[in-house]
Amino acid sequence: MQVLHILREKGREVVTIAADATLSEASRLLARRRIGALVVYGEDGGLAGILSERDVVRALSDESVAALARPVSAFMTRDVQTCCEIDSVDELMEVMTNNRFRHVPVVEDARIVGIISIGDVVKTRIEETVREAETLREYIVAR
Ligand code: AMP
Repeated sequence: MQVLHILREKGREVVTIAADATLSEASRLLARRRIGALVVYGEDGGLAGILSERDVVRALSDESVAALARPVSAFMTRDVQTCCEIDSVDELMEVMTNNRFRHVPVVEDARIVGIISIGDVVKTRIEETVREAETLREYIVAR
């Protein structure tokens, strides 16, 4: 199973925010869209970073409510790990586990074409396991 297969199922929408938006705006967007991370774009429209709910919690813990008026750029992770459509879901799971993050944007031809969360990966793995079990059951019954 490849990243491409997950994107076909879940769609390619990526919720983004500008690097100069406030942390308050970012929190509202995360809550309203019921997601865990936002892809952050810079002035040139390119990928500037990623902001996850963990970054919001850390900002509030470090700076209390004053953090809410500060820009997303002050709290996002700049060195974003991305993947490609042809990467395997197993590889992606390894990247998420080793780096301890739960979101990976998908990049093709220098453009973000989707985002995969750990929830998407787990859902895919469960579906695969159920399918394998069914196939085995059918094979045993047929014998
Ligand atoms: P998460 O587990 O995705 O909520 O994120 C945990 C931490 O990793 C946060 O500080 C994020 O900014 C950062 N992070 C999330 N996704 C990525 C990614 N694909 N590349 C680099 N850092 C990330």
